[in-house]
Amino acid sequence: MYEIKGAILIVSGPSGCGKSTLLRDVFKNIPNSYFSISTTTRAPRDGEVNGVDYFFVSKEEFEKDIKNANFLEYAKVHDNYYGTSLKPVIEALNDGKLVVFDIDVQGHKIIRKKLHNVVTSVFITTPTLKILEQRLTSRDTDSQDIIAKRIKNAKNEVEEFLDYDYLIINEKLDKASNELVSIARVARIKSKLFEKDEILNSWLESK
Ligand code: ADP
Ligand code: 5GP
Repeated sequence: MYEIKGAILIVSGPSGCGKSTLLRDVFKNIPNSYFSISTTTRAPRDGEVNGVDYFFVSKEEFEKDIKNANFLEYAKVHDNYYGTSLKPVIEALNDGKLVVFDIDVQGHKIIRKKLHNVVTSVFITTPTLKILEQRLTSRDTDSQDIIAKRIKNAKNEVEEFLDYDYLIINEKLDKASNELVSIARVARIKSKLFEKDEILNSWLESK
C-alpha cells in the first residue's frame, strides 16, 4: 500500500460522452484538483498539446516504461496503449490534492484494487448510443474508421457502469456538470480519507 493524504476521482465512459468537457468545470470549481496526464501511443488530435492533454510517445517508449514499472496502471484501448505514471500521482496525493483520472474501465478496476480507500468513481454516458455517435461525428476529430471502433467498444464499456459509485447521464450539459462538480466535492470528505486517531483525539480534547 502507498502512503496517501489526498483523494482520487476516476471518471470513465465511452469516448465522446463528454468527459473532457465536464472535467473542465471540475478544475474550475474544485481547489487543489490535479489532472493525471496519461501517456499514450495514439496520435495527437488537432489542437491537443503534448504534456497537457497527454504525453504522446512511441510504442517502444511505452513498452520501456512498462518494463521499468513506471505505470500505476496501463491498458490497451482501441488498439493503442494508455497508461498512468505512478510517480506524479503519488506526489500529488502526498500533497493532499484531488487527483482526477480520465481512464477506461480496465484502468478503473486496477486503481480501485490498489487504492480503494481513497477512490471515488463516476461513469458518464450519453442518453443513447445514437447520441454518442452524433457527438463523435460532430466533434470531428476522428476518422469514420476510428469512430466505428469507439462505438463498438462503447457497448462493452457501458455494461460495466455498476462497478462505479456514481452514474451521470450527460444529456443537458449544465445538469451533468453540476452533478460531477458535486461528486468531486464529496470525494474529498470520504470517511476513509481521515485518520481515525487524529479525529478522535481532537474531538475528545474539545470537551
Ligand atoms: P470525451 O472526453 O468523453 O471523449 P468530449 O468532452 O470530447 O468527450 O465530448 C464529445 C463531444 O460532445 C464534444 O464535441 C463536446 O462539445 C460535445 N458534448 C459534450 N457534452 C455535451 C452535451 N451535454 N450536449 C451536447 N454536446 C455535448
Ligand atoms: P481518447 O483517445 O478518446 O483520448 O481516450 C480513449 C480512452 O482511453 C478513454 O476511455 C479514456 O478514458 C481512456 N484513457 C485515457 N488515458 C488512460 C490511461 O492512462 N489509462 C487507461 N486505462 N485508460 C485511459
